[in-house]
Amino acid sequence: MPELPEVENARRCLVQAGLPGRTFTGANIGWARTVKKPGLEDFVLGLTGGRVKAAHRRGKYILLPLENPDWPAERTLILHLGMTGGLSVQPKTQAAHPMVRHSFPLDDGRELRFQDGRKFGKLWLVDDPQEVLPALSPDPLEKDFTLEYLVDALAGRNAPIKALLLEQSIAAGMGNLYADEALYLSGINPMRPGSELSADEVARLRASMVDALTAGVALYDQSRIDNWPDPPRALTTWTIPRQKGDACLRCHGPMEVTRIRARSTWFCPRCQV
Ligand SMILES: [Zn+2]
Repeated sequence: MPELPEVENARRCLVQAGLPGRTFTGANIGWARTVKKPGLEDFVLGLTGGRVKAAHRRGKYILLPLENPDWPAERTLILHLGMTGGLSVQPKTQAAHPMVRHSFPLDDGRELRFQDGRKFGKLWLVDDPQEVLPALSPDPLEKDFTLEYLVDALAGRNAPIKALLLEQSIAAGMGNLYADEALYLSGINPMRPGSELSADEVARLRASMVDALTAGVALYDQSRIDNWPDPPRALTTWTIPRQKGDACLRCHGPMEVTRIRARSTWFCPRCQV
């Protein structure tokens, strides 16, 4: 499942490929149910002729604002990669990966390709992104994810801290792997109720969330430099051991796994208290 560093990497790949500045000349949608809004025909007509102004990310959503002098207002193409989605910008003449479901031809002989093996990806074309984006909490990589914010967000929340981190109401884009990683780095047991964390623990947790995600993004940055134009979409960017029988990197005792909100949760029962 793409998490925040994977989606940020996808966004940076689009920028590096020079998508901003290019104009969509159409759209080939291979699986109609991926288009959530508007209807398929309006979606294709609505983005044709749109010049990509930029590539933004909010949580796990990629936003491509589009402009056209004949349109009354800007429109935004929103992409969600789902479970296995990936994006690339390639020449139309280059053979496409068999799992490419959708392609968006560009005015320079290339096309934006949306690979989506399991068809959990989503597409929207809207006038205002707020029409479809959930009310997202601060992104851990943005300035508004402050210690004061996190203290307030956890106050009175008695669910396990791991469960709270998976709720997008605390931090946008936190997924299962990075929630485990942040709790491991901060030495906090995933079952602890959020409201019971001390001020010091919340500060450690916040720093660990930022560190884990920043390190993940940095690994992708290096990999993109080393492997352009075909960088890998999935790297192991976390440090927490996540296999049965693995030893904790600090105390060398056995890692344990439990389930919280139906998600596998790895932790060290000695280092995470
Ligand atoms: Zn340990």
